[in-house]
Amino acid sequence: MNISDLKGIGLTTEKYLNELGIITIEDLATYYPFKYEIIENTDLKTLKDGDKIIVGGIIENKPNVYHFNKKLNKMSFRLNTGDFIANITIFNRAFLKSKLDIGTVITVIGKYDQKHSQITANDIKFGLIEETIIEPIYHASFKINSSKISKIIKSSLNDFMVKETLPNYLKEKYKLMNKNKAIRIVHNPKTKKELTEALNTLKYEELFIYMLKIEYLKTLKTKENGLPRNVSYKQIEKFIESLPFKLTIDQLKAVNDIYDDLTGLNRMNRLLQGDVGSGKTIVAIISMYLNYLSGYQSALMSPTEILAIQHYNNIKKILPNLNIALLTGKLKAKEKKEIQKQIEEGQIDIVIGTHALISDNVIYKNLGLVITDEQHRFGVNQRSNLKNKGKSPDVLYMSATPIPRTYALTLYGDMDISSIKTMPSGRKPVKTYVKTENEIKDVLYMMLDEIKQNHQVYIVAPLIEESEKIDLENVYKLEEKFTKAFGKICKIGLLHGKMNGKEKETVMNDFKNGITKILISTTVIEVGVDVEKATMIVIFDSFRFGLSALHQLRGRVGRNALNSYCILISNKETKRLEILENTNDGFKVSEEDFKLRGGGEIFGVKQSGDMNFKLADIKNDYDLLLKTKEDAHEFIKNKEYLLKENEEIYKQIKKTVNLD
Ligand code: ADP
Ligand code: MG
Repeated sequence: MNISDLKGIGLTTEKYLNELGIITIEDLATYYPFKYEIIENTDLKTLKDGDKIIVGGIIENKPNVYHFNKKLNKMSFRLNTGDFIANITIFNRAFLKSKLDIGTVITVIGKYDQKHSQITANDIKFGLIEETIIEPIYHASFKINSSKISKIIKSSLNDFMVKETLPNYLKEKYKLMNKNKAIRIVHNPKTKKELTEALNTLKYEELFIYMLKIEYLKTLKTKENGLPRNVSYKQIEKFIESLPFKLTIDQLKAVNDIYDDLTGLNRMNRLLQGDVGSGKTIVAIISMYLNYLSGYQSALMSPTEILAIQHYNNIKKILPNLNIALLTGKLKAKEKKEIQKQIEEGQIDIVIGTHALISDNVIYKNLGLVITDEQHRFGVNQRSNLKNKGKSPDVLYMSATPIPRTYALTLYGDMDISSIKTMPSGRKPVKTYVKTENEIKDVLYMMLDEIKQNHQVYIVAPLIEESEKIDLENVYKLEEKFTKAFGKICKIGLLHGKMNGKEKETVMNDFKNGITKILISTTVIEVGVDVEKATMIVIFDSFRFGLSALHQLRGRVGRNALNSYCILISNKETKRLEILENTNDGFKVSEEDFKLRGGGEIFGVKQSGDMNFKLADIKNDYDLLLKTKEDAHEFIKNKEYLLKENEEIYKQIKKTVNLD
């Protein structure tokens, strides 16, 4: 059922909600608040301007009413709270005047306005009321605000009927509620106690289902046979020796792990994690070469087209004798068909692309190895989709978001892990500075310095997730600003999400080839793009990003022996950002991010496929996560999912893991 079936949702509201990703009634039911405002009986002595308050007292004087017009009126009176006389103002309640005699006891709910030293009430209740008001706060947009969303959800609560998933024995074990009850409470809590219990239930469920998928994938892994391969390590060594640089020790270790996996008995399911610029790609290329030597096709999947193109060009150079194809969603239908035909007939050895690689139209002759770059951008669902493309291809996931090992082991429990911790030699750490907008002039001079040396600069425009239109406006504004400053000196490129693949490619190529010296972009540049002469990145409104995301963006520069700089411009949260001034180690940065923000937000800039829990937070709810891990393990081991009563949960696992 779609939200348009709900009473009171018109076309416009529907559109605004759709823009927030809310399409079905279930989407609405699970559009959880991201925080709560809790208002309790207030001590008036410690009030700050804007505080929300609930306070009881006795009316001191006859209320004064002022009528602005027929509809609009304002009423004021004094309220004696026992140790304080408060001036109360309330709008459009003139009809209450006759009941508000001197001496009447009431409770006022409102906001403290320091400037007028008064309380602006939005509600009056008769009598003294012990009350806690808990207001859910939702992620909103410029078109529809949180309180409107709350109103819509509250009036639809009766229409929310979701399927219960958790098995009864677990509900009993942890005293969890029914999901339907929990959902209603989360949107409309009356007490802190019930809210805590409801949140606990929903978080438990979220984590449990995630861990079930992991535990299930784990059982598959131990059962599956790998493909036969007959390649000696000598052959790989020879290839490594032919490369233009010496591999680092960690890169060699990773290659070893992968060699053992690929030539061993079981199917590979490995995560390769390493900081931006640590050199994961070459490890991937060596793996694909190994796979090619054993007679199989490889597929390399990238989250963005730009990255796919870069990999394509890069890999063609290193493996000139192989047949390598690029397959993206933006190809013309005819070109796509031709490439698909060649993949099916086995003429292509390596195919590189975006999501298009897992579309049903792509049939592989003998897919032996699947690699996903920037794994955190893909969900568990896509993981298994790719796996199922070949008979049982080996799988390598690459991630530039190093996460602390304990978390990695839990969250990627179905995978083996190789980590690249050392950077290739000869790299200089990126010098990072936090600057306020007032210091922009310094930044312009630094930029000028770089450009004079024929170096290049990335500018990242502020990201306002709520609205693409505003993102775009911001990019254009910056373009104007920088054209004024540098228009006579050099060319400036512009890159944003609304461009099509061809346009993006042209802009990116112009920058790579040094035709443009400055590239202004939204975060579409993302991770992984390689431009040799780029020595500076300036990130506006950087407080909007997690530290790990900023660290990844900063990885765009400092890819060689040149001095390079990252300027974080922000008028807020400078203390947090200064952490990046002090360290260039991605593992440290992600630890700090964990401490400060919790795990939910560390995985990249926008939604990450995996672990994007709606309520749970892998840091703050880590204990709960460990419990669900154990419970999920038992559940899978005992094959509880085969019981009739656990039908719904089985469906959910199946959807992800393709059990059929
Ligand atoms: P990431 O791990 O972020 O994907 P890349 O694989 O793109 O990093 O590597 C970043 C750059 O470092 C590339 O230009 C690559 O050619 C280079 N590189 C990789 N390994 C080494 C090495 N051992 N020595 C020198 N340069 C290397
Ligand atoms: Mg990369």
